[in-house]
Amino acid sequence: MTVTTSRIHVLDPRLANQIAAGEVVERPSSVTKELIENAIDAGSQRIEVDIEQGGARLIKVRDDGIGIGEEDLPLALARHATSKIGSLEDLEGVSSLGFRGEALASISSVSRLELISNAEEDPRHGWRVVAEGRGMEARVTPAPHPRGTSVGVRDLFFNTPARRKFLRTEKTEFAHVEEAFRRQALSRYDIAWVLRHNQKVIHQLPAGHSAAARERRIASLLGKNFIEHARYIEREAGGLRLSGWVGLPTHSRSQADQQYFFVNGRVVRDRLVAHAVRQAYRDVLFNGRHPVFVLYLELDPDVVDVNVHPTKHEVRFRDGRMVHDFLYSSLHHCLASAKPAESAEESN
Ligand code: ADP
Ligand code: MG
Repeated sequence: MTVTTSRIHVLDPRLANQIAAGEVVERPSSVTKELIENAIDAGSQRIEVDIEQGGARLIKVRDDGIGIGEEDLPLALARHATSKIGSLEDLEGVSSLGFRGEALASISSVSRLELISNAEEDPRHGWRVVAEGRGMEARVTPAPHPRGTSVGVRDLFFNTPARRKFLRTEKTEFAHVEEAFRRQALSRYDIAWVLRHNQKVIHQLPAGHSAAARERRIASLLGKNFIEHARYIEREAGGLRLSGWVGLPTHSRSQADQQYFFVNGRVVRDRLVAHAVRQAYRDVLFNGRHPVFVLYLELDPDVVDVNVHPTKHEVRFRDGRMVHDFLYSSLHHCLASAKPAESAEESN
């Protein structure tokens, strides 16, 4: 009889990161989302996204944010390393988009990642670190870069062939990337954005907070038609503030593919929110038609929990009932004065 004494061992860091990557890195669009979130958290005013071959070949995000200093650079790629929270209290009131300290570690374990950053004003300074999906030790070398950070992710899943196989066509993957970009660009009008695919400019969005500037951005991301068939809403009650564009029944779609709901600047897919919206549209839309909207809910970060899921698409409200009723009544009121569904024209 053989006796094996040890069956349990600690996973090597690369494998642990690849497993964690399974949760947050599904496809090029998830990488794009994480890199853009980091750029936003860095206080950037301009974010440029370059994609090659739908992101399977390259996803590159360049920002002009605070940058990462030399000594922090290797840590940026380490798992559970973050500059954004340090305590449970921080976690409970978190206002940055990231806080798990997992994205870069996960992404670098399944791609060839190059990060160049400069936290100083002098563009002759800057540091470069590369990770090629191998060991987690990072080599830091000098590399000039203007203040800010560029992260390039090449050959996603090159070392996990089973996952690489799941990538769809270039067109499909890019459509997902563009959607991730669209959501982020709709969340921050004070940032200028550029998206290129295979060197071609797809979106170029100047910064601007005026109503006209915001409508221009929405029109270029979602089509002019939407803005022409939408009503601007702004309502505040009980610590909740709702603003944005409510699509009228005259511009509905066959799919629920243009519905954007932001909670404190973070795009969410939330059942309670979806239910409130559906109820509000119930009387003005035909069955099977879906409204278009871009809505922003703001509330005290203490009464909403964003640490529900690694991709942070879900949130939990402390008082869900109140949020639901507030949304429903705001939208219902706005739509009640809109045209009835009989005059609806098919817009998709
Ligand atoms: P998280 O965003 O959850 O903190 P990440 O793995 O995405 O974790 O990033 C790790 C750390 O690297 C961040 O906390 C931040 O300090 C730094 N970092 C990443 N991207 C950038 C960036 N574009 N600009 C400045 N710092 C960055
Ligand atoms: Mg992050």
